[in-house]
Amino acid sequence: LALTPLDEAQSFVLAACGPLRPTEVPLADSLGCVLADALVATEAVPAHDNTAMDGYAVRAADVAGASDGAPVRLRVVDTLYAGRAPDRAVGRGEAVRIMTGALLPDGADAVVMVERTSRVGDGSEVDISAAVEVGTHVRPAGDDVRPGDTVLEAGTTITPAALGVLAMLGVDPVMVTPRPVVGVLSTGDELVAGSGALEPGQLRDSNRPMLLSLVGTSGFDAVDLGCIPDDDGAITAALESGAASCDAVITSGGVSMGDVDLVKVVLDRLGDMRWMQVAIKPAKPLAFGTVMRSGGFGRPIPVFGLPGNPVSSAVSFELFARPALRKMMGYGSDHLGRPRVRAIADTDLRRHADGKVHFARVSCRYGSDGLYHVASAGGQGSHQLSALARADGLAVLPDGEGVRPGESVDVLLLT
Ligand code: AMP
Ligand code: MG
Repeated sequence: LALTPLDEAQSFVLAACGPLRPTEVPLADSLGCVLADALVATEAVPAHDNTAMDGYAVRAADVAGASDGAPVRLRVVDTLYAGRAPDRAVGRGEAVRIMTGALLPDGADAVVMVERTSRVGDGSEVDISAAVEVGTHVRPAGDDVRPGDTVLEAGTTITPAALGVLAMLGVDPVMVTPRPVVGVLSTGDELVAGSGALEPGQLRDSNRPMLLSLVGTSGFDAVDLGCIPDDDGAITAALESGAASCDAVITSGGVSMGDVDLVKVVLDRLGDMRWMQVAIKPAKPLAFGTVMRSGGFGRPIPVFGLPGNPVSSAVSFELFARPALRKMMGYGSDHLGRPRVRAIADTDLRRHADGKVHFARVSCRYGSDGLYHVASAGGQGSHQLSALARADGLAVLPDGEGVRPGESVDVLLLT
């Protein structure tokens, strides 16, 4: 079987996955989702002129000559707090005590900060010791957002600040491309869950908790479909139930060349599956297919048949599943993969030419020289999950001899 170049495999997977249909979600659940429609403001923010400072609302003309040596005395006719509408205008020779965020009363056109004033007697008068221009410390209505402004474009990711803007404009619920619901199952007769003693030949299922966490931290909704034995019927049932309840399914194990590598057999029967040997290390085998939902309604759902070795599973998730699931969630083509930066290798990252791109597990740091630096995170075997756990990047080593200390290398940042 010929090796499939990485970019060809990635394009094939991406082409089969399209954005989910937009739905309304409560604003509080929308973080990380992609806005389906542009946000066009229907109101001004701030809604009214208001003060940016605690101080006194004045008529600038009244205090034109004020200074430390020659303060101007004004009559204090009201006190305004944020949240209260002014009920009295500021006349000539008058001032209103005002707290940050309070609406500017009619007549006033500037605010003198409290630090440049001093109360006289019981506070019914105030000495102003600074001249101010019209508009000083006033936030005019619409200073942030004006009605009709496109505040956020369709396709914007809802960051905490964008979520704040939606709240500011009273948008709740919000129309987004929803998070894909992603079922995760592991396969293998040798797998057990939990902390009990292992029989010879058994090992604990690490892929399922890891992949469920990767799904969750990527912003998708994870569903645990369990640990399934190497049995055609059991795998078929699990995939069918996953297809009925999820937008995508991720499996691990059972996609290599062994006798009980049945995931690819079942996928081939249930749907439209392409089995690839991708020109990468780790994570060479990949079974990617689409499976019809039972009853045949809706579009078929993608199934990512990831390899069983834990590091391969994680790397395959990063290179194939995560970008495709982000596409389903509405992310644009420039925002599907992890950030990729250039770094200096602090340790030896040499390899041998074998026709594959290698992804070395590395730890990254931002150096005092203003450059990223990476160092090998330890054993690079595809079963050595502990090194991946110490890594926060994957160094991309194109086919060839690799990278010596001091040379530069591209890194996918995993955090
Ligand atoms: P397979 O692709 O099913 O042949 O699995 C490849 C290797 O990964 C084998 O050594 C498996 O025991 C191991 N493996 C498979 N699934 C898991 C899992 N869920 N957790 C930990 N190791 C696994
Ligand atoms: Mg197996």
